[in-house]
Amino acid sequence: MDILKNLPITDNHIHVDDKNGYGAEKVAKTFYNAGGKVMIVLNKPTFDLNLTKSMDILIKDVEKINKNTSVKAFGLVGVHPAELTYLMKFMSLEEAKNKIIDALNYAKKLVEEHDFIVGIGEVGRPHYPVSEEVWKVSNEILKYCMELAKDVGCAIQIHAESSNEEQFKEFYNMAKEAGLNPERVVKHHCGDMVLEGEKYKIFPSILATRVKEDIIKKSLRFVMETDYIDDLRRPGVVLGIKTVPRVTRKLLEKGILNEDMVYKIHKENIEKIYNIDLEF
Ligand SMILES: [Zn+2]
Repeated sequence: MDILKNLPITDNHIHVDDKNGYGAEKVAKTFYNAGGKVMIVLNKPTFDLNLTKSMDILIKDVEKINKNTSVKAFGLVGVHPAELTYLMKFMSLEEAKNKIIDALNYAKKLVEEHDFIVGIGEVGRPHYPVSEEVWKVSNEILKYCMELAKDVGCAIQIHAESSNEEQFKEFYNMAKEAGLNPERVVKHHCGDMVLEGEKYKIFPSILATRVKEDIIKKSLRFVMETDYIDDLRRPGVVLGIKTVPRVTRKLLEKGILNEDMVYKIHKENIEKIYNIDLEF
């Protein structure tokens, strides 16, 4: 019997794209056949003047996965930080900011309306160098997202430059100022940040291939992700659909993880972050 058979296996950051990739259903089925059970799906940046279109698509995609596959899917909606740079080709920084704030208010409404939309994300600040003004506005937008998350009682996933202790401390302080519990703030695309996470309460979402024995020995307070983008024109730029189940299976086979530890990472941590019940 497959070692992953009845275990909860969660990818905490994955994208689906019916237009450029395999699409919601096929990605979910591939994930399930590899041993995956739960997908946390986020809308992609569309680089389109209409910032809410991709959120509406995400709602449909999550519904499709839950209806037509054995995977349990939950969604996060947000405005990717790179959208600000795109909008500024057409308008002033101030106008772009206002447009993003409007879209985030729409995201908040979606969280309120749908049980399966469990957070705001991915939001944050560009991972590439930008002007001081753009940096400042990006931080203002991130702070606003934290306030929205606090208001509706949901989680938030941050996309930002690669982080060390300094960023974790900064996000912790930002969350505190916004009145948001930092335990509900996820830093996506992390490496080994488990001890910093314990110290500053920010939840690290670690790229699956970077989860090794050294991290597991330090702490189980992390979740796993691929950041799979589902774009057939850009194969191999990120981890593949099956990576989270594949890595977890390997760690179980080697005895580095046991079943209780898998429940902690893939179920309890996820339930705590998003305030959901995965029923495993
Ligand atoms: Zn992403």
